[in-house]
Amino acid sequence: MGLFDRIRSSILHLIYPKRCAFCSAVVSPKESICPDCVKKLPWVEAPICKTCGRGLPYCRGHQRRFAFARCVAPFYYDGRAKSALLRLKFYGRNEAAVVLGAQMYDTVVREYGSNPADVVCCVPLSESSLLKRGYNQSQLLGEQVAGLLGKPLAANALTKAIDCPPQHSVGMRDRWSNVLGVFGVENREAVLGKTVLLVDDVMTTGATLNECARALKEAGAREVFCVVCTVTRPRTLVKAIKMSYNAKGSAGLVTKGICSSQMEPANAAGGKTIMEIGEGNSSEPLQ
Ligand SMILES: [Zn+2]
Ligand SMILES: [Zn+2]
Repeated sequence: MGLFDRIRSSILHLIYPKRCAFCSAVVSPKESICPDCVKKLPWVEAPICKTCGRGLPYCRGHQRRFAFARCVAPFYYDGRAKSALLRLKFYGRNEAAVVLGAQMYDTVVREYGSNPADVVCCVPLSESSLLKRGYNQSQLLGEQVAGLLGKPLAANALTKAIDCPPQHSVGMRDRWSNVLGVFGVENREAVLGKTVLLVDDVMTTGATLNECARALKEAGAREVFCVVCTVTRPRTLVKAIKMSYNAKGSAGLVTKGICSSQMEPANAAGGKTIMEIGEGNSSEPLQ
């Protein structure tokens, strides 16, 4: 950068200071996240589950076999990451897409390597939702990830033919049947014989990603790897519950609002299943 460009950039920074995408604090031109947010963001920390991408203490294990190989995420669906994602989802804030997409890219490279797929796809909205909102937040994130990876984005490869109720509006148990058969592949050529990196904003049960991956594989995709911006987590560590459960035995355990009588007996014995708090009242494990 020449002297003139440096002066111009300093003046621009004084007039329009660069702001942290998570809290709007002024940051230096080289930063995109302020030091306070770096400290307080709900980062997913290693070691992670090689299926759902949650940190191991937050994974309850997987009874179902997903159609995708793995999912990874930079953040949990909490705090400042959740707020930034909601700003992107409901206000289309592109600066949020840039910062969140960059973190998703870093996670992809760390977990899958720098050449993880031939093509990037994103979870689609139905036509009516797209008309209402005007953009697809997963596509905004997909554009960032694909751009940084230098891979093509097949934005319209997947389609959502059936306008099912939003996943957050149905209970955990119904989420699998709610999305069953609603996705299709319009552009088979884009995915045939290819490894796909599938992008979405949030994973809760994994039902949506699973259904998209199933459609992609039926259309001839070789393998599907997923990356989401955020993954939900139980409020209480699965590991902590298990330890406490083992220490106290099987009868009448109450741990921080979670009662053993609410567990399925088979799962309670293994200490793997706990009630999900704040994700509806279903006791079905997140998957
Ligand atoms: Zn900040
Ligand atoms: Zn897992």
